[in-house]
Amino acid sequence: MRNLLSLVLLIYCLISACTKDNDTFSPIEDNPISEGTYPNVQEELWIYFTRFEVEAAERGEDIDLNSLSLTAAIEELHPDDVAGVCNYNSRNPNHIGIDESFWNSASSRWREMVVFHELGHCVLGRGHRGDSFDNGVCVSIMRSGTGTCRDAYQNSTRDYYLDELFE
Ligand SMILES: [Zn+2]
Repeated sequence: MRNLLSLVLLIYCLISACTKDNDTFSPIEDNPISEGTYPNVQEELWIYFTRFEVEAAERGEDIDLNSLSLTAAIEELHPDDVAGVCNYNSRNPNHIGIDESFWNSASSRWREMVVFHELGHCVLGRGHRGDSFDNGVCVSIMRSGTGTCRDAYQNSTRDYYLDELFE
């Protein structure tokens, strides 16, 4: 009887481990940060805006996205291979657009990378940084969309990339 129970537990653990592997970003989703409210930003983006403020604060940067003239929405962008855009405009507030097709097919991890990339432009004033490590992996999530380095934004590298973003 005990052996049977162990077997059932083992199988259960294997199944739950597999489920977890399918979404390598789950630890972040498992500990949701309570969302802030951003009246000029589409609601689906709020969680990423909040995370951006939290990650900035952890690195000593006090960023209040609501105090900035910033709008953001998920919308169809052109050309089709563009995932996000930050428009600087002297007359209108800075506007972040996230491509709707990208958004609908992207994991939470990729969504965060693209939102943080655009906030890197609009809020941190960062330009592109396209260099790569010896293994071809991008040094920064501020890599250019036309560059050749490989993205490696995942749980194990997230802290490095966010350090680099806010440094
Ligand atoms: Zn960019």
